[in-house]
Amino acid sequence: MTEKQHFTLTSECVCTVTDQETGEVVLDEYGDEKRSDYCYGCYEEELDVFNEFVLDEWLARNDADRDTRIIVSSEAMNWDRVAGYASVSAKDLVETLALDSLWSLEFTLEEKTLTAVRRSHDELGAPFVVAIDTREE
Ligand SMILES: [Zn+2]
Repeated sequence: MTEKQHFTLTSECVCTVTDQETGEVVLDEYGDEKRSDYCYGCYEEELDVFNEFVLDEWLARNDADRDTRIIVSSEAMNWDRVAGYASVSAKDLVETLALDSLWSLEFTLEEKTLTAVRRSHDELGAPFVVAIDTREE
């Protein structure tokens, strides 16, 4: 059986408010976790978690490391759904996919395959495939 691992990274702040005394997350009137007005650095934290548990895991399964060149490609990205690709260092994966505006990236790791779906103002869901760049130098 194939185990799929999902991880979502977003540029939007996901910091929550915790009760000073109990240390528990405060809920809003809808019962959802209350979002903080102040960002405590959630993006950097989430990025570290992604790199450590998803990216490194995928690289290990492909006998690669963060300095390995990878190809990030999409058949339909941006508002006009164009195809394109970039060859970058594995450690720059998220930087390559990140946009200036608000965005979210939903990664799926399945065996040796890493894919991502990017959502933003202009994209309802742009599919990306991440692969080891096996071309000759
Ligand atoms: Zn935050």
